[in-house]
Amino acid sequence: MTQVRKLAYGEKSEPAYDVRLAMQEAARCLLCIDAPCSQDCPVGTNPSKFIRSIRFRNFKGAAKTIRENNILGASCGKICPQERLCEKGCSRCGIDKPIQIGRLQSFAMEQEKIFGMKVLEKAPSCGKKVACIGAGPSSLGAAAELAKRGVAVTIFDENKEPGGLLRYGITPSRLDDATIDQDIAAIKELGVTFEQNHKVSREEVAELAKKFDAVYVGVGLSTSKVLKFVKGWDKQGVDTALNFLKNARVKNGQIGDLGKVVIIGGGDVAMDCASTAKQLGAKSVNVVFIETMEEMPASKKELDYITELGVPVLPFFKPLEIKGESKVEAISFASMDDESQVTFKADTVIFAVGQAPTEGFADLKQDGNIFLGGDMVVSRGRTVVESVQSGKEAAFAIADFLKI
Ligand code: SF4
Repeated sequence: MTQVRKLAYGEKSEPAYDVRLAMQEAARCLLCIDAPCSQDCPVGTNPSKFIRSIRFRNFKGAAKTIRENNILGASCGKICPQERLCEKGCSRCGIDKPIQIGRLQSFAMEQEKIFGMKVLEKAPSCGKKVACIGAGPSSLGAAAELAKRGVAVTIFDENKEPGGLLRYGITPSRLDDATIDQDIAAIKELGVTFEQNHKVSREEVAELAKKFDAVYVGVGLSTSKVLKFVKGWDKQGVDTALNFLKNARVKNGQIGDLGKVVIIGGGDVAMDCASTAKQLGAKSVNVVFIETMEEMPASKKELDYITELGVPVLPFFKPLEIKGESKVEAISFASMDDESQVTFKADTVIFAVGQAPTEGFADLKQDGNIFLGGDMVVSRGRTVVESVQSGKEAAFAIADFLKI
């Protein structure tokens, strides 16, 4: 019988590599000339180069390569779905198994932290200033890229701490505060300043455009979607994924008795809700989604993790009705391929079926010195690493506009 693991809220599921294991893993690299892993990283973190540095014990060089290309290198090492990105391209896939690129990236970033390495330097001022709205992955990516060109960047963000989705939309056992803080520290080293607890309204965007040489709006998709065709979607006990994850993070897991939990959705966010609910002592946790097992959008790593925690998943079922007087008591689903139905007793139902643009920003258009990017406008922004890339691309466009 498979052993079910028990982890406390925020407890890490995967041990970090030590020097010996990292060197061993890097030694498996075939040093391919065409470096398919590097071609398959959306933000160009250049794993072939940093793995080579690790192989030759040049840990600072590895950290520098990562940071130069991907300012969120520490976070991405932990949360990227590597099996669909860099590790998919690895030439060792055809021999035995791919190099564990994410873990090697995390190792290099850990070395940066342990030894207090300063791998990026603040650039001399170019005399321009840019405001970035939102402190999530795309804004952080844009801010860092601009700061590297000597731009004075101020980030405005409504939350207490910077990170956006990184901090408030991912469970801490996958991405802990210390790792996010390490990435934020690297951005601050470049001279970027943060104005937290500052919610920018749609109207304020135009005011900022007058005060700054350019404005980047990278507010992302900060609201969770709810399937309003499901009867009873507004009953007490129904929550959305982002609200649930944020609440748990802000209250350090002290969010009361969840009872029996059913999560609707099959992506990484749904998996995060499942592991969080399990770690917070829910009586039972079930994940139900509309896709087949093959089409399930979650990464294998996250599916394996919730399976280890003993969470069952039910593919190819669509939600029908949330039952109960005013409060959730049960939820029924219909099979997608026949007439069968299934009902789960439930006290909490969580919708993890995708995100919608931040309120008030949905129809904002790029105009004059106002630039848009990130998940809000770039549909391919499905992963953090793709959002960082979209921020970088916006920074290149802003740099062109500012002629720097
Ligand atoms: S950033 Fe992500 S996709 Fe790119 S090399 Fe690192 S782990 Fe792989």
